[in-house]
Amino acid sequence: MKKIAVLGAGLCGATAAATLTQQGYQVTVFDKGRAAGGRMSSKRTDQGYLDMGAQYFTARSDVFKQQVKVWLDAGRAEIWPCKTALLSNDEGFISLKASEDEQARFVGVPSMQSPVTALLHGITQVNSCRIQKLDYQWQSWTLFNDEGLSYTGFAAVLLTLPPAQAKQLLAQSLLPALFDTAADILEPCWAVALQTQGAAAQDAIFCQHPKLRFISHQQHKTGRNPCYILHFNASFSALHLQQSTEFWFAEAIAILRQELNIQQEITPLVAHRWLYASQKDQVAAPGLIALPEQQLWAGGDWSYGGRVENAYLAGLNLANALIEQNKSQQETP
Ligand SMILES: Cc1cc2nc3c(=O)[nH]c(=O)nc-3n(C[C@H](O)[C@H](O)[C@H](O)COP(=O)(O)OP(=O)(O)OC[C@H]3O[C@@H](n4cnc5c(N)ncnc54)[C@H](O)[C@@H]3O)c2cc1C
Repeated sequence: MKKIAVLGAGLCGATAAATLTQQGYQVTVFDKGRAAGGRMSSKRTDQGYLDMGAQYFTARSDVFKQQVKVWLDAGRAEIWPCKTALLSNDEGFISLKASEDEQARFVGVPSMQSPVTALLHGITQVNSCRIQKLDYQWQSWTLFNDEGLSYTGFAAVLLTLPPAQAKQLLAQSLLPALFDTAADILEPCWAVALQTQGAAAQDAIFCQHPKLRFISHQQHKTGRNPCYILHFNASFSALHLQQSTEFWFAEAIAILRQELNIQQEITPLVAHRWLYASQKDQVAAPGLIALPEQQLWAGGDWSYGGRVENAYLAGLNLANALIEQNKSQQETP
């Protein structure tokens, strides 16, 4: 049975790992985080989870619709009954308008990472393990982490890290520089959670705003702490990347007061910085990246344009690329 190392326990890595496990491969998933989920992680609080990363996902392709149905049937996901609105900016005049649509939006239950955790059920995971070097000798990969531990004997490696981190890992491993412009494809986002009293009029506010890209309220998501989550846009987040959480709390509170006219007490909960959050609009998606001779493949949401659904599709395609390569090697006389 071939041993495969999957780096990254986000949705892409989990999907690849589950697909390969079903095909009889022996998979180990490594992640630097304490738990699986990646950018679908939620933070646990006494009052429920806070979705600091992805707020919801949509399903357009048949294959992802089928997977979402499995999660819905297993109680790992639900439809988010969200009221949507648009915070629009007309020549500096900002206004909030209802903008209902027919789009089905889904969330994990009881937290955003639940679908990822479900995929990884029964698969060996090594968490809190930052891989910082790879070595390929005699058709076998060895992984080294930042505490000096090594993991050896893998026939193939799948990298499902954000491309800037994958590029750095390849450089540290003296492997070919497979990522050039693709390394800069993901942009940062500061996310801030704030508590207010009472219900919110809208659950999902899309923002055309100088600072913000999205405001979400968690009142209609099962298992969540019912509060606001604000996502600052890439340019404002990048401009103030190193600012303290106090700066971000003050910015977020000012926005709730000015734009949503919230007068009651606002309590800051959590501010989280994502260095690699979502895809730049202008950049073409590079697809999967590979060193097929050495059985190394790289992919993630960024391969196909960002978002949760594309992370899933990338995970499937990474696994299938490896399976196909192995089949053709077995068929070669
Ligand atoms: C603030 C925010 C809001 C978002 N909103 C939405 C939304 O509403 N809808 C939507 O569809 N998408 C949204 N997204 C995007 C969505 O979360 C991602 O597309 C998706 O989760 C990416 O999955 P992935 O597996 O490709 O990557 P990731 O989830 O980033 O997984 C990569 C994993 O690699 C690990 N890793 C990195 N370096 C190493 C290393 N050296 N060693 C070991 N492990 C390592 C990381 O810890 C991480 O767990 C949002 C993202 C953010 C950050």
